[in-house]
Amino acid sequence: MTQIKQAMVDSSQVDSELISALNEAGIEYVVQDDVDTQKHYRAGKKNLVVVDKKGDALDTCATISDKYICCNVKVLKSVSNCPYDCSYCFLQNYLNDGNTKMVGNDKALIDEVKETCFKEPNRIFRIGTWELGDSLALERETGQAQRLINAFRDIPNAVLELKTKSDIVDPILACDHQQKTVVSWSLNANTIVEKQEHKTARLQERLQALKKVTDAGYLVGLHLDPMIYFEGWETDYESLVRQMIESTCSSQIAWISLGSLRFNPEMKKKIEMNFPASDITYTEMIRGDDGKMRYPKPLRMRMYRHVMDVLSAALGYDDLSPQTGFDKPLFYFCMERWDVWHDLLGSSPTSIQDLDYLFAKSLQARFFTDLPVPNPIDYGV
Ligand code: SF4
Repeated sequence: MTQIKQAMVDSSQVDSELISALNEAGIEYVVQDDVDTQKHYRAGKKNLVVVDKKGDALDTCATISDKYICCNVKVLKSVSNCPYDCSYCFLQNYLNDGNTKMVGNDKALIDEVKETCFKEPNRIFRIGTWELGDSLALERETGQAQRLINAFRDIPNAVLELKTKSDIVDPILACDHQQKTVVSWSLNANTIVEKQEHKTARLQERLQALKKVTDAGYLVGLHLDPMIYFEGWETDYESLVRQMIESTCSSQIAWISLGSLRFNPEMKKKIEMNFPASDITYTEMIRGDDGKMRYPKPLRMRMYRHVMDVLSAALGYDDLSPQTGFDKPLFYFCMERWDVWHDLLGSSPTSIQDLDYLFAKSLQARFFTDLPVPNPIDYGV
């Protein structure tokens, strides 16, 4: 069933394939200039507004901070807002316009990606479409992921990451992806999915979708993020890790990340107002060096350590560190401090650029052996 109730085209250059996708999904659209903005982020979740690409759409992930180790992934701002309604979603505190907007001209997006990638041919770029939304939630209505998968196949030094909490993978299964797309899931303990990730695919539905894309030969990514504390978290996260590894094939897992709940201080009030039944703000949190609220380090460490133990056993690797060999899925923490890496893995990347380089090393060694071996200098290490 479509998530979108009305569509408006406020763009002079719309791909004919997007129009066909809207028609096939049975969505009537109107051409309209200057669509009114939606003040509340929830009000626009059912309105799709097709817009022109304005300025640069390719950027570095906005969470980057030199106080934490980030992975330097690039983001393609092709969509903004999301039909789902997670209690911790930062969009509730971020969007000036709540309409669900997507760029109507994929060619302009792809041209920008190509220009950036061709300027630095010795680098491998990881580029995601999920910064301000979900990469697959609207695939039935827009078909945009399919067009991006086809385009990325032909860019030698770029990998597309489609990150989702949906199970909408049927439209992409037949694409000729040539493993240039990583389909990744944001996964969480079942209790969190049920209580905090409203309107998303249920955990079992996501795991079935993970199995489908694995069978279709895609590379996959697994993000246990944001890990959230609750009574009984140990067994629930343990079961999640076992099930997710059983649902895929380790040789196709490009990367696995862990991250814990974090948000800007002003989000607390928004969460309590928008999700009065949610208890995620009850656990003690402290302000980190990047200004975001997080659990105190001992709790984060306890949660990570537990999941890492189960993960190591499920994958059959004693050592998860991304610095010790490139024959396994690349494991990393999202937005964590150096000391957390050291305490849990015995070492850490030396910088954001170094982690970016480790990703490239891993991708080249495991999947793209026809590309030149990455050189740290090309990554600014
Ligand atoms: S899936 Fe992501 S973008 Fe969508 S509501 Fe949840 S956190 Fe926000």
